[in-house]
Amino acid sequence: MKLLRVGTEGSERPALLDADGALRDLSGVVPDIDGALLADDAALERVRAAADAGDLPLLDATGLRIGPPLGRIGKIVCIGLNYHDHARETGAEPPSEPVMFMKAPDTVVGPNDTVLVPRASRKTDWEVELAVVIGRTARYLESVEDGLAHVAGYAVAHDVSEREFQIERGGTWDKGKNCETFNPLGPWLVTADEVADPQDLALKLWVNGELKQDGTTAEQIFPVGEVVRYLSQFMTLYPGDVINTGTPAGVALGAPEPKPFLRAGDVVELEIEGLGRQRQEFKDA
Ligand code: ZN
Repeated sequence: MKLLRVGTEGSERPALLDADGALRDLSGVVPDIDGALLADDAALERVRAAADAGDLPLLDATGLRIGPPLGRIGKIVCIGLNYHDHARETGAEPPSEPVMFMKAPDTVVGPNDTVLVPRASRKTDWEVELAVVIGRTARYLESVEDGLAHVAGYAVAHDVSEREFQIERGGTWDKGKNCETFNPLGPWLVTADEVADPQDLALKLWVNGELKQDGTTAEQIFPVGEVVRYLSQFMTLYPGDVINTGTPAGVALGAPEPKPFLRAGDVVELEIEGLGRQRQEFKDA
């Protein structure tokens, strides 16, 4: 299923994108798309049955804002340098263990919302990422298969990053990752049953129409199931938590000088095979 949330910021209602690409209202079936729903098999089954029966009300998509596909996100854990090609372009050795940092849930905006270039920023950069949404409480998992079994679904994430704040202003990376609006998410959450192989998805990102990132999750150093297993040794992952699993090559940081960092007026579009597309216009904070 493709689950989403539509409406003005803070007042989104749950919706479903049906097999014909039409928007259906879910607010009569579930209160929201969140961790509580993803952990509730009976509620998910009610949604599925209503969708299959075709009796969910149609929503007029005209002018309707798409919000982030998940409410009440507990935490966002990010994996750095998780693609062989991206590690090469940044001159970093492939890490022997996953590199981890945190992003605050309040950085999340809708997939087509405005993104703000922070004040004093000179190095705002883009990163298309496969986001993993947790559906079962995960602690001390023992296998990659078990890691995958705790995944409820997938979405497109934009891990917007300020490289000077991240790297040149003193630790930690979090400083360049938590600026307001720095985590567009969506358009929809695709349930795991509709993603045949999370390690075989094409990821693309364009800046002002020019293709900058053209990667595949097959390049991930630590695959999704291993990332979930690994993280669960250090923290408990709860339903509705999000993991941004790293970005492929093609970011501004990896480009020759002068590096093409983002400025107000730039338009970034990103897409992951089967998970939809985002478009953000950048403005000054
Ligand atoms: Zn990232």
